[in-house]
Amino acid sequence: MSRNANRIILLGGPGAGKGTVAMTLVDRFALQHLSTGDMLRAAVAAGTELGKTANGFMSHGALVPDDVMVGLIQERVQQADCRLADGTPRFLLDGFPRTMPQADALDRHGLGPDVVVYLVVKDEILVRRLTGRRSCPKCGNPHHVEFAPPLHEGLCDRCGTALVHRVDDQEAAIRKRIDLFHSQTDPLVQRYAPLLVTIDGEQSQERVARSVIEGLRALEATGS
Ligand code: ADP
Ligand code: ZN
Repeated sequence: MSRNANRIILLGGPGAGKGTVAMTLVDRFALQHLSTGDMLRAAVAAGTELGKTANGFMSHGALVPDDVMVGLIQERVQQADCRLADGTPRFLLDGFPRTMPQADALDRHGLGPDVVVYLVVKDEILVRRLTGRRSCPKCGNPHHVEFAPPLHEGLCDRCGTALVHRVDDQEAAIRKRIDLFHSQTDPLVQRYAPLLVTIDGEQSQERVARSVIEGLRALEATGS
């Protein structure tokens, strides 16, 4: 890419398909995938202080406070797997930033994105996807009872782990997450307008993946 895409941000509502696109981008561009949702769920499972703090917010579909999230990301990106040999930060953010202050923090630390991939999906479709979603607690691979049933009932196609219905994938928490997405995260779309690759996230998974790769290649071609 003539414009070096060292830092990519994935934007999109809950259930928009960020996790799936992340897997495609990681395969294609060899970047470290940083999913704040996965990081927080791992902390909850491990029973750390962070996990205890985060759990109360997450289970209701609320956002974890900005200072906690900024601290978590700032610490994580120091690690060698998020840097090129010359020290340039290189990673894919999935689930961060979710608020203006989180985006401000990235800029302040010289970690702003080169490209922002925005997955657009209507609210009714987000609700349908999330209510039927069954997630792999180990590898993050998402399934859906209706749209993407696992080959063996209740087990992850990728790693065989028992799938879970996330507590925040229940109706009330889903509504709240979508409302928060509109009030807190939508403004980031304007903020990142010049860096945006906008993708129709209602297409099939294969088409979404192809559109994202094509969108990034188009940037490479124009070097814009
Ligand atoms: P989804 O995108 O499907 O809503 P995630 O797995 O990305 O789910 O996040 C799950 C939950 O983790 C969020 O609802 C929120 O409680 C918390 N969380 C994740 N990232 C952030 C963030 N950047 N700021 C605040 N809370 C976050
Ligand atoms: Zn799995």
